[in-house]
Amino acid sequence: MKFVSTRKKAPKVSASEAILQGLAPDGGLYVPESFPSLSHLNVHEISSYPELAYEVLAPFFEDDPLKDDLAQICMDAFNFPVPLVPLKGEEMVLELYHGPTAAFKDFGARFLAASMEKILEKQSRNLTILVATSGDTGGAVAAAFAGRKGIDVKVLFPKGRVSKRQQTQLTCWGGNIEAYEVDGNFDDCQKMVKDAFMDQEIATKWGLSSANSINLGRLLPQSVYYVYASHLYYQAIGKKPTFIIPSGNVGNSCGAYWALSMGAPIERIALSVNENKTIPDYLFSGNYEKRPSVATLANAMDVGAPSNMERLFDLYPDIDTMRKMVSAWSVDDETIKKTIKEVYDESGYIMCPHTATGERVRRDQFSGKPTIVVSTAHPAKFEQVVEPLINTEIPIPENLKQLLDKETSFKQVGKEYRELFE
Ligand SMILES: *Cc1c(COP(=O)(O)O)cnc(C)c1O
Repeated sequence: MKFVSTRKKAPKVSASEAILQGLAPDGGLYVPESFPSLSHLNVHEISSYPELAYEVLAPFFEDDPLKDDLAQICMDAFNFPVPLVPLKGEEMVLELYHGPTAAFKDFGARFLAASMEKILEKQSRNLTILVATSGDTGGAVAAAFAGRKGIDVKVLFPKGRVSKRQQTQLTCWGGNIEAYEVDGNFDDCQKMVKDAFMDQEIATKWGLSSANSINLGRLLPQSVYYVYASHLYYQAIGKKPTFIIPSGNVGNSCGAYWALSMGAPIERIALSVNENKTIPDYLFSGNYEKRPSVATLANAMDVGAPSNMERLFDLYPDIDTMRKMVSAWSVDDETIKKTIKEVYDESGYIMCPHTATGERVRRDQFSGKPTIVVSTAHPAKFEQVVEPLINTEIPIPENLKQLLDKETSFKQVGKEYRELFE
């Protein structure tokens, strides 16, 4: 199995090489040359999530140096539960927030960190990871890489755009993790990372690599829970579910499309976005126009130029196929609030603002249908938004509590990438 760049001007590489490089040398993103079929998978015989993850991912590593470490990497990375929770009738929620930083990004970040540590150990090498975050990525990456051998991490976050608790999770690590507060928005942070990679001298001297949602090592494990949940659902209900996925950079939903490409029992995939409407507008008009991001209550989805769209364009090159496979709706802040309250009043279930965009799309577009809304973060991470709406204090999960008690530190920088290397 080889991986090719979406821009088709870089050599094919193995999974390990793609994971180390992050971005392909031609500026494109790595995608599998072809998708293996899941027909070998006997889900009835699989007893644990790490075991399923191994079975799903093994074909991607079949001739890779990490082949013999993959089972261990899956055990190391996926050491927390992945509940599929029934809400009402055939409507369910897939809770992806039971990892160390209480958001779905723990899946990708932990898999990537465990893989990279093994690769570097084999090669006796060190490197520096640059990661731009609009909220949750950085925390998950920092947590996943903290204390790992041979790897330093620089995390960039936009000033004033992340919640207090998110900021604590970015800045509480010390050791091999350094946090930078950027005087700009998330797109500025992402641009600094891209510029640093394009600077050959810096990239070589520091051994730069990425851990953003563009890294193949983040994407691959994000396809596993779609395989897992769609099979569980199908066994329980006897129908294929439609997944509704709160989306920003489209890394999470890209994982779903890859699971679908492998043959997972998925009826349809729908994206919910906040007021950053680049994708629904594109599906409507046929013109893809990146924009600056706008700040919303679902801030981990404040993305005007979704980086993983390049992978969806690679999968579905023309607008007609894209429209057949992808639907997307935008949900504004007022509607997010209304939905959090509505769900809580009806059932006592508490959703974070991101998850609420998905629930809104379910209620407006797929009501009563076999659906799984993907819950991307624990509501306790967004208590300032959620608690006033439901008039209740949200208990903080134990893993988060431990992080929030730590001391924090960060550096302040402008929008110039060179400042990160002074
Ligand atoms: C990152 C994130 C998203 C968006 O995921 P993408 O892969 O960027 O589309 C949604 N919700 C939460 C809580 C997140 O942290």
